[in-house]
Amino acid sequence: MKEVRKIGSRKRIALVAHDNKKKDLIEWAEHNKVVLARHELIATGTTGKLLEEKLDRPVQRVLSGPLGGDQQIGAMIAEGKIDVLIFFWDPMESQPHDSDVKALLRLGVAWNILLACDRATADFILTSPLMHQDYETQLPDYSGYLKRKVAK
Ligand code: PGA
Repeated sequence: MKEVRKIGSRKRIALVAHDNKKKDLIEWAEHNKVVLARHELIATGTTGKLLEEKLDRPVQRVLSGPLGGDQQIGAMIAEGKIDVLIFFWDPMESQPHDSDVKALLRLGVAWNILLACDRATADFILTSPLMHQDYETQLPDYSGYLKRKVAK
């Protein structure tokens, strides 16, 4: 049987932006302040601080991305504690924590969460009627993978 994860109408949205993309993300968040108010926000350290100031509301903050924040968000995805990831990563500059960036993107896909890496996709996600409804995410079937590991 396929496993599902139930997502409530109040979504848990993680926001992460690289330095060159912070302005873009903060502008986007301010523009969508009313819709975002209906959801829970989690963010990496600096992104979270800027969001709190701009949106004038609490944001659950983990460590700064390069200090382990990306990995903390990744772990929360694996534990089913994040429903949506808005991740404005910088395509023009390498980061000291590129390996963490790759790991975060990988976990987002591995757990089939909603994942936007640019403003257009973030707009489409936020305006989807599903944002305000309960939803059942189909989890990828990794049972074959686990069986193969045990058989080794
Ligand atoms: P920051 O981390 O929000 O603390 O700047 C973001 C990142 O670089 O992953």
